[in-house]
This record gives sequence, C-alpha cells and structure tokens, in this order.
Amino acid sequence: MPPETTGLHHVTAIVGDAQQNVDFYAGVLGLRLVKQTINFEDLLQHHLYYGNRTGDPGTVITAFPSPEADPGRIGKPQVSTAAFAIPPDSIDYWVDHLEAEGVDVFAGERFGESILAFSDPDGTPLELVATDTFVEPWTDGPIPREHAIRGLHGVTVLPANPYGTATVLETLGFDLVEESEDVVRYAVEDSSSPDSRRSVVDIDLSAAEFGREGTGTHHHVAVRMPDEDALHAWRAVFADRDYDVSRVKDRHYFHSLYVRGPGGVLVELATTSPGLTAGEDLAHLGESLSLPDWFEDDRDLIEQQLPTLELPRNQ
Ligand code: ZN
Repeated sequence: MPPETTGLHHVTAIVGDAQQNVDFYAGVLGLRLVKQTINFEDLLQHHLYYGNRTGDPGTVITAFPSPEADPGRIGKPQVSTAAFAIPPDSIDYWVDHLEAEGVDVFAGERFGESILAFSDPDGTPLELVATDTFVEPWTDGPIPREHAIRGLHGVTVLPANPYGTATVLETLGFDLVEESEDVVRYAVEDSSSPDSRRSVVDIDLSAAEFGREGTGTHHHVAVRMPDEDALHAWRAVFADRDYDVSRVKDRHYFHSLYVRGPGGVLVELATTSPGLTAGEDLAHLGESLSLPDWFEDDRDLIEQQLPTLELPRNQ
C-alpha cells in the first residue's frame, strides 16, 4: 500500500464575502492570512488560506469566497465542522473573546475534551477544542500567545454511509480510537512531530438530511501526503476500488488528489511541499495576491475582478 497519512493538511469552506472572511478568521480568530491566491479552477474567485505563522500543513483552513452563491445547507455527505486546538486553560478566554465579538458560543464536551461550538459569519460550523497539543501559533494577531489557536484539531463528518467513510479513513491510516452512541472517532498520529500530534475525524452517526453545497458549508477535508509519488500510488488504489477519484493536480503550493469514497464525503490528499511559504517573503506572507507563474499573464485581469482585501490592522 502507498504511505499512510500523518494527519490533516487543511479544511476548505465556501463562504460569502471575502473581506468579511478575512475580518473573522484573521481579525477575530487570530489566524494568519498566509495566502491570497485564486481558485485554480475559477480564476475570478479568491482562494484564501489561514494558518499559523508559516502556514504549516495541519494548521490551515481555506475559503472560497462566493458572494453570488446561495447559502448552503449542512447535511450529509459533508464535512460538517472544522475544529481548532486551543490550550487547555483557554476556554474562558475564548468564551469572553467570541461573545465580545458578537459570536454565539455553545460549550460542550466530547470524549472528555471541552469544546466551544460557534459559526463564522456565513454560518460555517467551527469548534475550539481544549487540548495540550502544541503547534507554534501566529502571535502577531489579536490573540495573546498563551491563548492562540494551535492548528487544526480535526473535523466532524456527516457521511451518507458511515461504514464507507470509515473504510476510507482506515485505508488512509486512521485508527478507530473512541466510540459513543452518536460519534465514532478516528485518529492518526504524526510520529515525526515532537508531541506525536494527533488529527481526529469524528464520524457523526446522527440522522441528517442531505446537505447542499453553498456558502456556510465546508467543501472538503485534506490529509497530508509526503510527495507526488504517493498521490499517484493512492490514485491507483482508489481507481481499483471504483471510487470517484480525480487526476493528480498541481496546486502550486502542493499537489492534490481528490477522492469521494462510498461515504460520499470529499477527501483531498495533499503533499506537504513545497508549502505555503514557497515563493513569498515570510515577513509579508499573504499580504498581496500570489499567483503561480502560469497565471501571471492574467494578473491585471484577475486583480481588476477581485476585491482588494485589507488585513486586520494589528497584522
Ligand atoms: Zn483543498
């Protein structure tokens, strides 16, 4: 079999207004806008990436702003929630901070971990999960270092067929680690990280309607792969199983393969290199529109069509 994944790479949502998205993810959640680029399948759409200082795989959430799109409906088969890790003692800070920003927050617990559930301005479901995992956070944003988000904790998925999604996760290297009446938790550890950092995927077993793609929904979840060879090898495995699988795509900052297994949830396999810092000065990452060479000829046209984004003042 091809190499197993070591954890999540990124999660991608469809949102409405691009500036509103920057104001929330950078200005309220305190993530770094690490990349302003375009949707490589639709040049006149932004693709915004947020993460830690260096936009490391496993810290990244991305957005396709689609101001003309209709609101989506959360349901199966979708990634229903993206969860970020925060330090164990930061729950109270985040409740106060989010409420001060006018965000409704719901406190809860899952498998012994404290969670705060809330939504972005488009209604995209998000969570903060208190854990002692450590990722070097972005500290030039509005959140003090001791409370800053420490990468992705995981996602919750609502599959059309839970067994189908479980099979895909197990094939990729995830293990079943916990189970309750409503949720089955899969996880994978990155043994190369200092604290064997864990990424989780919670399969939500509750009965749900079918969803509809649109603003306020997550589009896909991506897992890490070491290199392009691994993607080609996985493509052969998935094709052999008759899964709906894309060709290997050059996303400039990484290579990608998309697969929809029998659970119906769209999963991307993405390489860890060259990475989101490639070709941009780290000090000014994400401050202007970054395009791969093959789109540079169209830069004027693209820039005329897209709104100019302002970063939060303290970034
Ligand atoms: Zn993606």
